[in-house]
Amino acid sequence: MSAIEMRNIVKEYGDGFKAVNDISLDIADGEFMILVGPSGCGKSTLLRMIVGLEDITSGDMLIGGNRVNEKAPRDRNLSMVFQNYALYPHLTVFENIAFPLRLMKGITEDEIKTRVREAASMLELNEHLDRKPANLSGGQRQRVAMGRAIVRQVNAFLFDEPLSNLDAKLRGQMRTEISRMQRRLGTTTVYVTHDQTEAMTLGDRVAVLRRGYLQQVASPRELYEQP
Ligand code: ADP
Ligand code: ADP
Repeated sequence: MSAIEMRNIVKEYGDGFKAVNDISLDIADGEFMILVGPSGCGKSTLLRMIVGLEDITSGDMLIGGNRVNEKAPRDRNLSMVFQNYALYPHLTVFENIAFPLRLMKGITEDEIKTRVREAASMLELNEHLDRKPANLSGGQRQRVAMGRAIVRQVNAFLFDEPLSNLDAKLRGQMRTEISRMQRRLGTTTVYVTHDQTEAMTLGDRVAVLRRGYLQQVASPRELYEQP
């Protein structure tokens, strides 16, 4: 069974413009799927329809085999990481990462501590748990945003250009972190990027969008190492 299945997904904005046009795509359990394509081709719109932040005009969205078209974001059990990591400035790193757990019922304080420490250790944040976001570097902030995304067990992670605001060196480090995290957790991931190196190192497959259409789905190798 696919983790995420899109069947003939269309997104039409108010003026009749189709930002996403008849996209069908199966993402396997544990697969790391990259979305690429020129600015305005519909990548963010597609991600937002998976998460439930945008209504689907027509077609079906299935998560774990269940149709979720009408389901609210919180009932889809997904984690999204945005380009502009929105951390809570008044909360410590620990509380920022713990935030999604505090919304869960029946979870003990001990369990919260254990899970936050696990996530923080995976992202090398254990020494910074008492700090506030203002006292962190850009890369550390992005790690906290990731920590918050991985602290719960979810059906999938969705990333919208999570590294594009970082400098080249940090991007390289974060790429390694994400790749390690993926190997450890094996969680299905949909990842939007403009960066070919990210697509090559992280992706199992790459979906190429163009003007709302799905143009091609290929392995990074097939796509980038063509003669
Ligand atoms: P990408 O993420 O690939 O840059 P988007 O999904 O953000 O593309 O946008 C796809 C197309 O839909 C663009 O032409 C954009 O201008 C348009 N679009 C996005 N959001 C809206 C909106 N809320 N209303 C109207 N048009 C939109
Ligand atoms: P990105 O470049 O990161 O994909 P954009 O700057 O294109 O994002 O879009 C930022 C926000 O503006 C999004 O929420 C999108 O829905 C909205 N938007 C984009 N294009 C349009 C549009 N043509 N009309 C109305 N809203 C739009």
